[in-house]
Amino acid sequence: MGVFETIGTESHEEVLFGVDHESGLRTIIAIHSTSLGPALGGTRFYPYADEEAALRDVLRLSKGMTLKSAAAGLDLGGGKAVIIGDPATLRSERLIRTYGRVIDSLGGRYITAEDVGTTVDDMVLIAKETRWVSGLPFADGGSGDPSPATARGVIASLRAIGERLWGSAELAGRRIAVQGVGKVGMDLVRRLTEVGAETVVTDVNTDSMAHAVETYGSKAVSLDDIYDVDCDVFSPCALGATLNEETIPRLRCAAIAGCANNQLAVETDVERIVDRGILYAPDFVVNAGGVINIAVETDGYSTERAGAMVDRIYDNLVVVFETADRDGVNTHDAAMRFAQRRIDQAGGFRFKRPPSDN
Ligand code: NAD
Repeated sequence: MGVFETIGTESHEEVLFGVDHESGLRTIIAIHSTSLGPALGGTRFYPYADEEAALRDVLRLSKGMTLKSAAAGLDLGGGKAVIIGDPATLRSERLIRTYGRVIDSLGGRYITAEDVGTTVDDMVLIAKETRWVSGLPFADGGSGDPSPATARGVIASLRAIGERLWGSAELAGRRIAVQGVGKVGMDLVRRLTEVGAETVVTDVNTDSMAHAVETYGSKAVSLDDIYDVDCDVFSPCALGATLNEETIPRLRCAAIAGCANNQLAVETDVERIVDRGILYAPDFVVNAGGVINIAVETDGYSTERAGAMVDRIYDNLVVVFETADRDGVNTHDAAMRFAQRRIDQAGGFRFKRPPSDN
């Protein structure tokens, strides 16, 4: 792969490769944009097939973070990092702390957080080496697990959809099909049950499904049947790419809104959704609760302030719907325009390495 060519295609600002042979650390940090502020995004610790796959992933994910933070109204840019290897066998204090020093060398242009394969304990170790880390435990003044905030953001999105489609943000009596009841999905089901909505769930983990049925009175269906559920909203909360040419024709919902990242198998799948007359709430707008929660941590965490900011996802989605109406585009494109407009308004400004304060 031509590294410069690849980085240039998506206009990344900077890509840093870090290595420590002693611990086996091989890391890539991608800063996509700092137009709106320092680039925030998690660290994925994953056994990539090869370096090219790792580079491709970090470039894609960091760009996604730029859009997500911009659409969420945050003064943050987009970045992401990967550590190549299996965390189960490669993780060591030396590796994580060395990685922390790589982050520190960027002087605040990149702020890390948890992602697939990294844990709160890793963030605590990283914090020994740099202050450019978030997602620390409550006890350390951090924001803790972002999943409840993400679920709260999905609720705000469902309310915005209700107002748009049925003239009411009330969720009581609505029927929501939740694909995946993990950390976010289960909390979403809990919140929906509390406000009197009905839930239909599926999960590869049968214990999780049983928990939703027993605790929240959800109806359980098989992994494949979730697409055929007659419901108000289909909520993808498991993996990406579950909205595709096979599944979209089967959906029997009025709208789609869930926390999963990259829900569309290919971007043009949004047109299939439009053709079915289904309202699509773009994933990176709906699932921004977690990053909003983390952003609050960067200037002193407060649960109340974070909650209030997450609830603004309702307003963000209203703007996306209005942009789609005004510009005659689908909601996915409208969300991209909404995010890009904020980035463009910030202009050519780039967040610079602050002067050393050591
Ligand atoms: P999780 O791993 O806790 O939950 C995912 C659940 O989906 C698990 O219970 C898993 O068993 C289930 N699952 C896996 N494959 C499935 C399938 N084919 N069909 C049905 N269920 C399946 O993860 P999470 O933190 O709840 O995140 C869920 C999604 O939301 C992911 O795509 C994640 O990237 C995205 N997301 C999460 C957050 C957050 O704050 N946790 C924020 C933004 C986006």
